[in-house]
This record gives sequence, structure tokens and C-alpha cells, in this order.
Amino acid sequence: MSKLLRQFTGTGAIFFPIGLPPRGTCEFSSKSCRKHCYVKKSSLFDWESTLDDSVRRETYKFVINESIQRVCSKIREDLSGLQTDILSWFGSGDCETKTIDKISGVIKAIQHSDNIIQMGFTRNEELWKRFPDIFALSIESVEEVNGRKGMFSISNYEAQVSVMYSPDHQVRGGHCGPVTCGDMTDMSLEHHLNCQICHELKLGCFDRR
Ligand code: SF4
Repeated sequence: MSKLLRQFTGTGAIFFPIGLPPRGTCEFSSKSCRKHCYVKKSSLFDWESTLDDSVRRETYKFVINESIQRVCSKIREDLSGLQTDILSWFGSGDCETKTIDKISGVIKAIQHSDNIIQMGFTRNEELWKRFPDIFALSIESVEEVNGRKGMFSISNYEAQVSVMYSPDHQVRGGHCGPVTCGDMTDMSLEHHLNCQICHELKLGCFDRR
């Protein structure tokens, strides 16, 4: 495969097929997120997010069918080509129940052997629990937190933003839209949508206290 990762907001991102299985990988998607999916709309995000479906399917097949070693080496190669050290899980699509062990294997192999920063968004609660420092669990409203601990991403479709939320601390930044990532209270934290900046300043997804 020529390209596994695509440039996305300063990261190299994995784009899986969208929609409900069996065609897509969004097993835990909500009705609202399927309706408002940014990938389906003509998007202001990086053009890579408007990939053809066949490309997403090819990416998926490679990750699921190839050995962990081969997937990891392709990830390393592509990150180096994209000149970023951040691997982003699921620019589109998600981890299904049936693929959780394979994807966990890749994540662990990278964690143990590479100098790569991993981040991501998922609606698969089990994956989120396995890697609490990597994933934010995407939910629709703060009521869905329901006593759970960890990082959440709350969608606001009208405002076209995802808001990073933790029940333990006020997350700095992480008011993340298609053009900028800002903060609800401190405007000085607003920056161009680029996860490298959040990582450097420990904002948004990277504000893990
Ligand atoms: S909050 Fe920051 S790190 Fe997270 S997705 Fe938005 S820009 Fe990237």
C-alpha cells in the first residue's frame, strides 16, 4: 500500500470507512454523529478528510489483515514522510468490537518500541478504557459522562466543534473546530487547528493532569 496515514491537523491519521457496519466501522456511532459527520459534508478540514471510500477500505484492510510488525513499520515510514511524530487514530471511522484486539496490539507495539505520540477519538468504550492516556471518548452531552473518569470529547454539531472535557479538571483549550482550536474562557489559547500546538502547550487532548 502506498500510503497508510494521511496528513490531518498536524498528525498522521488513520482513516477507516465511515458509517455503520458492515460497510463502515462506526459501530458505536450515534444517530446525530452519523447525520452530521464532518467527513460526509463538504468540509473545511484538511482535504485529506474527503478521501474516496475505497481508500478508507484499503487502509482498514491493511491494518486488520497485515501483521502488527508490518503495520507498525508502515506507520513509522509514513509519519517520517509526513514529518510528524503524532499518530492520530481515526480521522474517520472507529474501532469495532471485532477489531479491538488487533488495533490494541498495534497501539501497544508502538507504545513499547517507538518515540511516537498517539492520540485519538473513539466511541468504543472498551478501547478508551484500555488506553486512557491516548483516547478521548466521543459523546453527545455531559450527562453521558455518568460518573466515569477520563477524557471525553463532547460534540456540538450546531457550533461545529468538539469540546474536550474531563470530570477531574478544567481542560485548557480543546474547543476544537474545523479551523481553530480555542478555549471557552481564555481567548489567548486559541490557535490554528493543529494538534502539534496542543501537544506543545499541553492543551486539549494533551491536557492530561
Ligand atoms: S484539541 Fe488540540 S490536540 Fe485535540 S484534536 Fe483539537 S487541535 Fe488536536
